[in-house]
Amino acid sequence: MEECIFCKIAAGTIPAEKIYENEHVFVINDINPETPVHVLIITKKHIESLNALEGDEGENLFKEIFKAVKVVAKKLNVKEFKTLINTGKSAGQTVFHLHAHILGYK
Ligand code: AMP
Ligand code: ZN
Repeated sequence: MEECIFCKIAAGTIPAEKIYENEHVFVINDINPETPVHVLIITKKHIESLNALEGDEGENLFKEIFKAVKVVAKKLNVKEFKTLINTGKSAGQTVFHLHAHILGYK
């Protein structure tokens, strides 16, 4: 996905500090934080949105995203937070590559 900003970050074409990374996801700080801690759990694979997450692979990835949310919240010492996945333009999705927000209040 040549034009996808998160694919470029995944590939290292656009530099970003990866706070956490495993086989399935990586985590970066949101460039425009809305809360004291605002990070993005991003799938390594280009998947347009939650609507495109299907089958066993989709279920597994969904599980991996939420496992990473817990690991990263703990790592950042954030105990109270919101987890958000915007799906579709009218719902506020601006980057069409699956990601979950952690909006934390340290
Ligand atoms: P969404 O609106 O749910 O699609 O979320 C996209 C998020 O990506 C927004 O909160 C943006 O601030 C964030 N974002 C866009 N470009 C970058 C970037 N280069 N590095 C970090 N975060 C970004
Ligand atoms: Zn992508």
